[in-house]
Amino acid sequence: MTDSLIGKRVDILDKGFIELLDLMPHPATDVSGDLAIVNAARVSFMGESKGEEKDRKLLFYLLRNQHTSPFEMVEFKFRVRAPVVTWWQWVRHRTWNFNAQSGRYTAFEETDYYVPDVWRKQSANNKQASEGEVDAETNTRLTADLIAHYEQGFKLYEAALAAGVSKEMARLYLPGFSVYYTWVTKVDAHNLMHFLRLRMANDAQYEIRVYAQAIYDHFFKPALPWTAEAFEEYILKTKD
Ligand SMILES: Cc1cc2nc3c(=O)[nH]c(=O)nc-3n(C[C@H](O)[C@H](O)[C@H](O)COP(=O)(O)OP(=O)(O)OC[C@H]3O[C@@H](n4cnc5c(N)ncnc54)[C@H](O)[C@@H]3O)c2cc1C
Repeated sequence: MTDSLIGKRVDILDKGFIELLDLMPHPATDVSGDLAIVNAARVSFMGESKGEEKDRKLLFYLLRNQHTSPFEMVEFKFRVRAPVVTWWQWVRHRTWNFNAQSGRYTAFEETDYYVPDVWRKQSANNKQASEGEVDAETNTRLTADLIAHYEQGFKLYEAALAAGVSKEMARLYLPGFSVYYTWVTKVDAHNLMHFLRLRMANDAQYEIRVYAQAIYDHFFKPALPWTAEAFEEYILKTKD
């Protein structure tokens, strides 16, 4: 099951994606992620098991009682393409490791920017959130404005490069929050659960929520089915 997960890529937003680059334990070891967690808790040899029922029971016990360090024995490494508006929030999670595409080294392409399908309105009772959508006519106009804004910025970017300006400075002309960047990022299952709890929640911004949900549905759940069940039971249900 987990074998096919490495290399799997899921498209997100208009031009983003998330791809699993590596997983620990690697599927070639034939030790499942759930078993690696159980074995770490038993400080045992990889592959040793006390049978499915006892293993599963122990894993649920660990998460229920916040004995979280065994969950740090499982790691996920992703390549992610996301707009800056998403990264801006993602990098606040200090327990992830990151390495980013360099806008100082690689020039941007004309289409490297996020165009939302719909423009959400400001929430009436939460100053940080959005709710509902603008009408169709306004939606079309705002999208055309964003594209025009980006094209203008990109022209200025190219003109600055043509004038001999460095890439690290020319990018000041690009519209910051919508530009797509690609990063490689790694996290363990304990800290990934923390991220998912916060970023799959309704109060998280849509542009990060879709990435968190994709990680959960396409990678976390298939790689760690018991942990996902325990996570839903003991962590998601109790989120305040
Ligand atoms: C809905 C929402 C709205 C937000 N709004 C804002 C906002 O308006 N402004 C803003 O600045 N941020 C905002 N944030 C970001 C938020 O404050 C956190 O920075 C972010 O969610 C990362 O959480 P974390 O620190 O728990 O995660 P991580 O950095 O991954 O840390 C995981 C856990 O490790 C521990 N830890 C890590 N580093 C330390 C440390 N140095 N000292 C002590 N313990 C540590 C903590 O227990 C922490 O919970 C928002 C987040 C959400 C989900």
